[in-house]
Amino acid sequence: MKPFPSLLGLASCWKDYSGYQKISIDFKSADVGRKIVSYLETLPSYDEWQLDQQRVEFIVSQDDHHVLLTAMDDFFHDIESVKSSRFSIPEPDVPTGLYLEEYDQYLTNDQLDEWFDWLAISFSDLDNGFVLRQEEIGRSYENRAMKGFSLRNPSKDLPWIVIDCGIHSREFISHATCRNLLINLAECAANDASCDTEFSNFYEFNWYIMPNLNPDGYEYNWTTDRMWRKNRTPTQGSICKGVDLNRNSDIAWSTVGASGEPCSNTYYGTGPFSEPEMAAWNTTIGSIHEQGKIEVYISFHAYAQKLLSSWAVDFSIIADEPPTLEELQAAGAAASQAMTEQHGETYLYGQSRDSLYPSSGTSKDYAMDVLEVPLSWTWELRDTGEYGFLLPSDQIMPVWDEVKAGLIEVAKYVLGK
Ligand SMILES: [Zn+2]
Repeated sequence: MKPFPSLLGLASCWKDYSGYQKISIDFKSADVGRKIVSYLETLPSYDEWQLDQQRVEFIVSQDDHHVLLTAMDDFFHDIESVKSSRFSIPEPDVPTGLYLEEYDQYLTNDQLDEWFDWLAISFSDLDNGFVLRQEEIGRSYENRAMKGFSLRNPSKDLPWIVIDCGIHSREFISHATCRNLLINLAECAANDASCDTEFSNFYEFNWYIMPNLNPDGYEYNWTTDRMWRKNRTPTQGSICKGVDLNRNSDIAWSTVGASGEPCSNTYYGTGPFSEPEMAAWNTTIGSIHEQGKIEVYISFHAYAQKLLSSWAVDFSIIADEPPTLEELQAAGAAASQAMTEQHGETYLYGQSRDSLYPSSGTSKDYAMDVLEVPLSWTWELRDTGEYGFLLPSDQIMPVWDEVKAGLIEVAKYVLGK
């Protein structure tokens, strides 16, 4: 039997989701969607999973579900359809045995740290002129070391691709994808002939990868609450903890699509880059920007199967289209097509504010606006709602096939510019 929190003496603090319902509502227009979501936000247990201009997906407790059913009469004419199902959280599947070299499993926070050290030691000597280095980019609020990996060729002046994972801690497929990216880049650089052709364009770039940007939140997912999205900073005067790290960057901070309420899942914090995790991200990406040109920034998230480019803020804040809109559209089209062709799972692409509701303080908008990264995205990985944040681990490798195919197209696009 696999270790389960109850066996580790954690039963009393494991958040219980029994009785919760998972609900998706399709609405007739974006305007009525806004009205419905404003109402849903008044339900204490409301946890939004996905929101676009046609649909909202969320979970709520049994009590709130009863309240919602009564209130639905008021929204009857605004709603296209409603689906609901019982929500339950499976037992945490803590990997055992040879997990360090198995890539189809979600590792715990400690196991990830162990793997990072293993990777840095195992690939300290590469054959293709590249150097892989692990460094501590900062400390989280709970004082966990945050790791960054650079894979660079010191003898050439190459452009950079910067990737981060796990900014939202419950999106486990993100961490797993960074892990697959790192091992494949490292193994190929260590001269494994089998991946040379496929990956050759990847070594026309230096890479910087931050594989676990929110370690406190990730740890909390494994020990206490599998649905935790934010970091774990306490807020003075509130019983709620945590800041949404993807609303904390210094770009239109505290404006649209973010909340000043500490209990909200999109709480923007007490100031731009107030959170140690995002301060570390900013210092790291800022110093890469000083060293060379960052051509691509991708933050891996889940879920939706969408490649969402800047801008995320709305037209009232940045009226102009992104300066590289055509590039974003062309590279996004090529990547989404290649990803879709892998396993028949459709990946869409487009500007964030056209596809979702606008949001502010996002890392991709900061990267585009302040660091002038021409191709700045969040890639929302699998799935489209069936499992949501609880994507089974047997989808990790197919998702990697898709991401790899997408990245190959992006690299080809940048080199062909
Ligand atoms: Zn996310």
